[in-house]
Amino acid sequence: AQEFLQNSEKLALVGQLAAGIAHEIRNPLTSLKGFVQLMQKDGMRKPEYFTIMSSELARIELIVNELLVLAKPHAAAFEARDLSNLISHVVTLLETEAILRKVMIRVVFETEMPMIRCDENHLKQAFINFLKNGIEAMQGSGEIVIRLRCEDNRVVVRFEDNGMGIPPEQLTRLGEAFFTTKESGTGLGLMVSRRIIENHRGTLRLKSALGQGTTVEVSLPIHG
Ligand code: ADP
Ligand code: MG
Repeated sequence: AQEFLQNSEKLALVGQLAAGIAHEIRNPLTSLKGFVQLMQKDGMRKPEYFTIMSSELARIELIVNELLVLAKPHAAAFEARDLSNLISHVVTLLETEAILRKVMIRVVFETEMPMIRCDENHLKQAFINFLKNGIEAMQGSGEIVIRLRCEDNRVVVRFEDNGMGIPPEQLTRLGEAFFTTKESGTGLGLMVSRRIIENHRGTLRLKSALGQGTTVEVSLPIHG
């Protein structure tokens, strides 16, 4: 009976997630369908249509890409990797976005870094999500410090931003699928990232003070 209960609970969660995905994808699909019909009916080919259509397609692509990690947790490929390379790659990827938003990114190594067994692409995706959230939390300008240190058999990575912070009542909802406060957010980043960190047997902690900033702390075992 216990097992059956667990299974039906799982199914309920899957159902909720499926409903969310269906809803999130249906909106851009409806819009795309409308434009195709318009173009068929009137033979209109306005450049604005194509701009909107490609941004709707990009939205669907973003949602699907984020969810793909959840779909294939077992496809994770664990290999020994240098975390400093991984971090500098992530910073490079978000550099233009940071410059556009007048955000300084600093990387501080507090100790020597060992190699770590991880799925490089998954871990990169999680770190991109944390850093991107930090950049998006800035009002006007700001600074993000990424601190890395090794203690015992773990590596601790902290993303500290001095952005808008998170109200206490929202802190408990973080990581819920589709919870977002952004106009064009997916609300999938933290959920997917938490899953990635858990797949690495790591832990994730968020600390935030409204109006002062947010710190995301990831702790990962070196040996995976
Ligand atoms: P999205 O970025 O698409 O909104 P996420 O799952 O990445 O989805 O984040 C969910 C919500 O958590 C964000 O909409 C935001 O309200 C909040 N959040 C996450 N990281 C931060 C941060 N560093 N500073 C302020 N708010 C954050
Ligand atoms: Mg995000």
